[in-house]
Parts: sequence; structure tokens; C-alpha cells
Amino acid sequence: MDNKKKVNLSANFKEKIEPKSQFQKKSIPGVKKILAITSAKGGVGKSTICANLAAAAAKQGFSIGLLDADIYGPSIPDLFNISEKPTADENKIINPIIAQNIKLISMGFLIDKNSPMVWRGPMVINAIKSFINNVNWGELDCLFVDLPPGTGDAILTFAQELKVDGSIIITTPQKLSITDANRGIEMFKKTDIPVLGVIENMSFILDKNNNPSYPFGKNGAKELCKKQKIKLLDKIKIDESFNDCVEKGLVFENLSKDIKIQFETIAKEILN
Ligand code: ADP
Repeated sequence: MDNKKKVNLSANFKEKIEPKSQFQKKSIPGVKKILAITSAKGGVGKSTICANLAAAAAKQGFSIGLLDADIYGPSIPDLFNISEKPTADENKIINPIIAQNIKLISMGFLIDKNSPMVWRGPMVINAIKSFINNVNWGELDCLFVDLPPGTGDAILTFAQELKVDGSIIITTPQKLSITDANRGIEMFKKTDIPVLGVIENMSFILDKNNNPSYPFGKNGAKELCKKQKIKLLDKIKIDESFNDCVEKGLVFENLSKDIKIQFETIAKEILN
């Protein structure tokens, strides 16, 4: 008799992420809009795009916050070149750090930069809840949330706790990234969070005669958007000016002019 059983792993996905409807989820008082920036895969430029979108929006006069929910790999402190630690008031409400007119909070402000984060899921969930509930966000037109890559605890906590108005997916055109982006879109559909669109980053590179080449493939995001019936918000080229921003710790200002205009246009579109 063959007594081998098939391995059947199931996380009962529906039960795990669908207990609350959008009506039961809470908003943050004073915050008009919450937008999640997500990538499904690491290294595609999600934090870079999130920081530049936030800065482009702040530059246009919107009051903006940025919550770095990438607990294991927070990039926001480095992107804004911040080493100071936030303070808290007598009720333990954390005052965000302000840089380039943006209110910022990140786990990177609170931990030692050189220590690895060895937190388990429940600790991550508590940190995220604290960033939602215990930060003095004040009045904001929009709170951008830089979500960690993947579909793990941090994202599910957000999806369950907070009334997120929309998500923006960042991907490269490469198949590896597109497959994961597709999975991310499916997750947002299940959690009732509208996907506002996709930004294809590292889409192409221009040579000195302005001829494009496509090191990560061509049209990956276009085909994803067609399949999912969502909008391709824009394509951002590979450009050295992103490195200038990192070197100088001043997002947006040091970008090439054409890319600045792209971020301003996307910011306007998603905030209106
Ligand atoms: P993620 O948040 O997806 O892990 P990051 O935002 O940390 O990715 O970006 C990874 C690296 O890629 C950073 O060094 C960043 O400066 C660089 N980068 C992002 N987008 C571009 C681009 N369009 N052109 C050149 N470098 C980029």
C-alpha cells in the first residue's frame, strides 16, 4: 500500500487578510490620503521612487508624510541623509523628523545602523502599529508608505489596520520582477486596496546620442498593466543622477530635469 501523502501547504490566505472591510479599517485623523508604494521584489528602486515622489509632491505645496515600513531594510534615513533620532512627548507620541518639508518616520531612525534586525513577525506588526497610531503626523494631504518588498507581515498589517486609499507598484521590466509585481497586484485586489498604477523603473538607458537600450527587457510593465487592466503611470530610465541624490542625501533636487518633471507629473496625478 502506498501510504505516502501529498504535501499540501496552505496559508488560508483569505481568512488571514480579509477579516476587515474598508469601512471597519481606520484612518489617521488629519491625514487626507494614504498611498502605499510597493514592489513585491527588492532592489527595483521602490524606496528611491517613494522618496522622490514624496519630495516632488512637497515641492508643489502639498503637506506630505512618509512612513518607512521597510522594517528590515529601512532606506529612508540614508536617502534623506538623516542621523538624528526622533523625540517623543510625555504621552509617548513620536515627533517625526522633518526633511525637505516632509514628515518622516523610519525604523532606521530608532535602531543602530550596523545591527541586523532580527525581529519576528509580531514585533514587526507592533512597530508598524506604533508608526500608524503613535506618531504626531498632524495635518497631511498625503502619507506615503514605503512598504517592504513581498507580501509579508508588514503589508498584511497595513492592509488589515488602515484604510489605504491606493497603492502604486514599482517594478523593473524584467520577468523576475514582473511575476512578483503581478502577485502583489493580486494581493491588493484581495485586500480591497485600489491599485492606482505601475511605475516601471530602470526601463531603459540612453546612450550619448539618446538611443535607448533595454538591459532588463522591454514592455514588461506595459504587458502587466494590460493583463491586469491597470494604468502604467510612467517609465523611469536608468540614470546616474539617482546616484548623485544618494551621495548628497538630497532626493529630487539632484535628479536630471526630465526625471524631475516625470515625478512632478505623477505626484500631481496621484494626489488629485
Ligand atoms: P528598493 O527600495 O526597491 O530595494 P532602492 O530604492 O533602494 O530599491 O534602489 C536600489 C538602488 O538602485 C539604489 O542604489 C538606487 O539609487 C538605485 N536606483 C533606483 N532607481 C534607479 C534608476 N532609475 N537609475 C539608476 N539607479 C537607480
